[in-house]
Amino acid sequence: MASAPRVELTVLGAAREVTGSMLLVETTGGRLLIDCGLFQGRRAESRARNRELPTAACRADAAILTHAHIDHSGALPVLVRRGFAGAIHATPATRDLSALMLRDVAHLQVADAEYLNRRYGEDPDWEPVEPLYDEPAVLATLDRMIGQPYLRPFEPIPGVTATFIEAGHILGSAQVVLDIGDRQRRHRLVISGDLGRRGLPIIRDPAVPPRPIDTLVMESTYGGVQHPPIAAMADQLAAVLAEARARGGKVIVPAFALGRTQEFLHVLHELEHRGVAPGMPVFIDSPLAIDVTSVFRLHPECFDDATRALFDRDDPFAIAGLRLARTREASMAINDVEGPALIIAASGMCEGGRVLHHLRNLVEDPRTTILTIGFMAQHTLGRRIVERRPRVKIWGVERDLRARVVSLEGFSAHADTDDLEAHAAACDAGLTVLVHGEPDRQDALAERLRARGLAVAVPERGARITR
Ligand SMILES: [Zn+2]
Repeated sequence: MASAPRVELTVLGAAREVTGSMLLVETTGGRLLIDCGLFQGRRAESRARNRELPTAACRADAAILTHAHIDHSGALPVLVRRGFAGAIHATPATRDLSALMLRDVAHLQVADAEYLNRRYGEDPDWEPVEPLYDEPAVLATLDRMIGQPYLRPFEPIPGVTATFIEAGHILGSAQVVLDIGDRQRRHRLVISGDLGRRGLPIIRDPAVPPRPIDTLVMESTYGGVQHPPIAAMADQLAAVLAEARARGGKVIVPAFALGRTQEFLHVLHELEHRGVAPGMPVFIDSPLAIDVTSVFRLHPECFDDATRALFDRDDPFAIAGLRLARTREASMAINDVEGPALIIAASGMCEGGRVLHHLRNLVEDPRTTILTIGFMAQHTLGRRIVERRPRVKIWGVERDLRARVVSLEGFSAHADTDDLEAHAAACDAGLTVLVHGEPDRQDALAERLRARGLAVAVPERGARITR
């Protein structure tokens, strides 16, 4: 009998950590890169890692993008600038969302570099900061992106058939099923990308990949952690808003422009239908979030049945008193609003963007509520807020954290440990490789999976796995 085809995996990023996703798959047919995300963490390390992508990644023959979050997509323009000349395959929704997300990163990069060089340029020791990439690099990247619908096989490199299946994480998110070799000698490799929770609003639940599976590469963000039920989310939010109204303070929601913002709006919309209106003006202070919300309307093929039906008779993102702050002036004007207001602003981990000016203005006011609805990576301001540190640094100035901090994990777009264990068990792969998780979460999940009789690997960054 012929032997199975050789498959080598190199985990180039998101190994024992949650950002900078990057996986290289090498076969006799060539080199395939899965995701090429920005690393987010300590400033100097982030800058170095995002600039110096591994050479092996730049030499890939083709790339596949699982979804448009920048910790999976945000380094693609660096890759293209460093000489990557292949196609980048993604679902049509991911391609459209990437056009917005990557241009936003480029604009922030250029604006940050200009600001820093202006501020410190007089200093003789100052080395001018270059943006990681600019708009032309993003356009060159978009030129390489090819939309591949769910469930329609394509051949990214010779001898490898790829199929996108639903990941249920954000609009357009996909798991990748790779069939390597031919029917007689096949290795099936499944890469989960980020997996969603079952029952998330708007999008469909994650699909179970076709078996048998030789190797499963799975995320592990919430290994060992259970989320509260999704059904409780709306009531908890109503309680937080009622308390904020009673205190007369503002509610700041740091939210990723893509995913959390739309789900959050959708839950507010539901509350309003139940007669529990927010009772305060609601601001979306992010031009990106406003644009992303309009891309949702273009991709009904990604919705679950309930959302598609809802769109026919209603706008699931509309709420009374919703105000969109697109311009800088409109954003600044929020400062003058008296009394309670709900402010949804990026970035989700408070590492930049307009949320910083609201935090600076309101973090020392005990009437303020900071409501977090997503994962906060280590060494980010968001993480320090969630940990309720007594003082936090915002734009280089230490401030007392006097605001109330509430975390509603129910909003997470990531599978919890029960979902992850069920997914791995359903896949029943010859080897389950855990990526995209902090060490304690990964170790907890690995232990549970091994107890179910699965073979599990938890690679360090740069580790090679030969199958
Ligand atoms: Zn994601």
